[in-house]
Amino acid sequence: MPETAQLSINLATVRKQWTLIEAMEGVARAGIPAIAPWRDQIAAAGLGPAVRRFRDLGLKCSGLCRGGMFPADTAAGRRAAMDDNLRALEEAVAFDAACLVLVVGGLPPGSRDLAGARRQVEDGIAELLDHARRAAMPLAIEPLHPMYAADRACVNTMAQALDICDRLGPGLGLACDVYHVWWDPDLQAQIARAGRDRLLAFHICDWLRETKDLLLDRGMMGDGVIDIPLIRSWVEAQGFSGFHEVEIFSAGNWWMRDPDEVLATCIDRHRSVC
Ligand code: ZN
Repeated sequence: MPETAQLSINLATVRKQWTLIEAMEGVARAGIPAIAPWRDQIAAAGLGPAVRRFRDLGLKCSGLCRGGMFPADTAAGRRAAMDDNLRALEEAVAFDAACLVLVVGGLPPGSRDLAGARRQVEDGIAELLDHARRAAMPLAIEPLHPMYAADRACVNTMAQALDICDRLGPGLGLACDVYHVWWDPDLQAQIARAGRDRLLAFHICDWLRETKDLLLDRGMMGDGVIDIPLIRSWVEAQGFSGFHEVEIFSAGNWWMRDPDEVLATCIDRHRSVC
């Protein structure tokens, strides 16, 4: 098996340097078998041309980023969010994605009702799940670090995500992103609780000890404090055999580098520290 066989590149990692088509071609050129595209990248390329090139290159899709963002302060806002999620679902199907990743959304503007936002999230996932089951597309809730609870995701731990999975049933699982969950003292137990069927995606990068920006300063694997091999061992102990998806938002460093060099570094670090 080639050393890149389990590697996927979340295309946020090279989003400042490359268009979607350029990024897919760069990934294929590097011998990496899979990608995770973002919907704004797909929109810029056009869904039809994007999918054709994706297929021509023989790539696989470890997840489509992203659906979610369910809470809104009006019924019309929630309806618009659901309509957008249905389009995301269609795009995930078009790319034959392993899952549609859900970043569930935070508080509507002006709201302090965290419990209410969480209810809206669960209601939204339940509605989307009906459609996703018919399309045979798994939905992956991505718990985000609690620093994003206000503006991006009010599901913040694996346990909280799994409680939702327990209540809503089949077709729903998790994206385990080490950046968001590495600190959780309950992580190993929750990965075991998730089990093989609910571990739908595994995202890797590193947490820099001196983080300069809460969103855009993720580290390359090996440059931070996360014991990635340990977490990987927990995930694989459950039988997870999916892709290791490198997802690095890095305004001050990796987004400023030659993207071919970024991919070469991803391959090298995946081999040496993951
Ligand atoms: Zn992620």
